[in-house]
Amino acid sequence: MRLTQYFLPVLKENPAEAQIASHRLMLRAGMVRQASAGIYSWLPLGLRVLRRIEAIIHEEQERAGHIPMLMPTIQSADLWRESGRYDAYGPEMLRIRDRHERDMLYGPTNEELITDIFRNAVGSYRDLPLTLYQIQWKFRDEIRPRFGVMRGREFLMKDGYNFDLTREDALHAYNRHLVSYLRTYERMGVKAIPMRAASGPIGGDDTHEFLVLAETGESAVFYDSAVTDLSFGDRQVDYADRAAVRAIVDEWTAPYARTDETHDEAVFAEVPAERRREGRGIEVGQIFYFGTKYSEPMKAVVVNEAGERVPVHMGSHGIGVSRLVGAIIEASHDERGIIWPEGVTPFRVGLVNLKQGDAGADAACESLYAELARAGLEPLYDDRDERAGAKFATMDLIGLPWRITVGPRGLAKGVVELTSRRTGESEEMSAAAAVERLSGIYARV
Ligand code: ATP
Ligand code: MG
Repeated sequence: MRLTQYFLPVLKENPAEAQIASHRLMLRAGMVRQASAGIYSWLPLGLRVLRRIEAIIHEEQERAGHIPMLMPTIQSADLWRESGRYDAYGPEMLRIRDRHERDMLYGPTNEELITDIFRNAVGSYRDLPLTLYQIQWKFRDEIRPRFGVMRGREFLMKDGYNFDLTREDALHAYNRHLVSYLRTYERMGVKAIPMRAASGPIGGDDTHEFLVLAETGESAVFYDSAVTDLSFGDRQVDYADRAAVRAIVDEWTAPYARTDETHDEAVFAEVPAERRREGRGIEVGQIFYFGTKYSEPMKAVVVNEAGERVPVHMGSHGIGVSRLVGAIIEASHDERGIIWPEGVTPFRVGLVNLKQGDAGADAACESLYAELARAGLEPLYDDRDERAGAKFATMDLIGLPWRITVGPRGLAKGVVELTSRRTGESEEMSAAAAVERLSGIYARV
């Protein structure tokens, strides 16, 4: 993409309404604009990050054997009356009446709708296990929408639902989700720690939240620092192997890590003092096992091997897709702007022409731009007629992990400059070597 042909409305000044870095930077970098309280338009740069996050989620869910689908945002109130949640949900639910005076709602979550789809289509244990998921917009009329996309009213969520014959099968589904989420967040370049949590309106007794540590987080967290040293790396998981999946879950859930809702001082005191940590975290996902909470009232039953009709065991599993954009920035920025992890960056490399209009510099940039695009490195070429300082400031603000700088002086020596946004370190090399270096880096993400 050429910057002169793109839509990147960056702001020079800090917007007054933004209290935290991610909100400020998303506005300044031209990623989002507020449409009304807690409701945002995603501008082209923001959308590219959102799409990357979605792509990683899809890959990891499908790897775990979970099947993508899509349900509508608007749902009928009838199903929610059946489960008893129409009244229980309260004012967070946006209720709508259509022209026939039918009660509708903008879905805050989808347990009822998916259970209805399931019960009308599945009747036998032979069709289980089954896990369906979607990435779809949700609406919750939050009392205090704030921090930009972090606590929006309309927000994008991955929500998955497992249907299993037995509690053991459903707990395996729970474990698959925990492991697939660990991989998912790690690929996005954030550390999200699974913490034992309380269940809230979704219900159930087994639940973990995934929290990104950040001072601006809304949850108080207590943890053993050993959990922050764990990393998934490139180990392969066989999701059909229950014991192997369970072992990974055990590894991550053994160290103490809880939110204030489930925190227990007596248990925490058993963690060696030098490893005890208190802090704040941003909830970027949550998994639940809730058994037959929905399948019983909604009669989602299957016939088991013995010929008996039994309610299925279920769980639901969410990732805050749009919130993650903010959370990743909270965890990865400096005073100059965003620092995107390679896994979610909107463009993989920025190309800066120090002397736009200079025949040699222009030609070198054109050929490097084509080369980078061919190598799948998705360059953003700053081809504006601007001072170098202004171009660098824009690149630093939007936070691409790598920048290649091309100018007449380097070209005379046959080199360009490759700069890391994270370390600020620059290295001179031939244009071909820069393409090769970046190809190697991105081959690993
Ligand atoms: P919170 O406690 O932050 O209100 P929640 O526990 O009610 O969230 P879940 O029902 O667990 O949310 O939804 C799954 C995920 O969706 C959450 O982990 C979070 O990342 C995201 N999410 C929830 N509410 C919002 C919101 N208002 N804006 C953006 N993302 C949200
Ligand atoms: Mg939650």
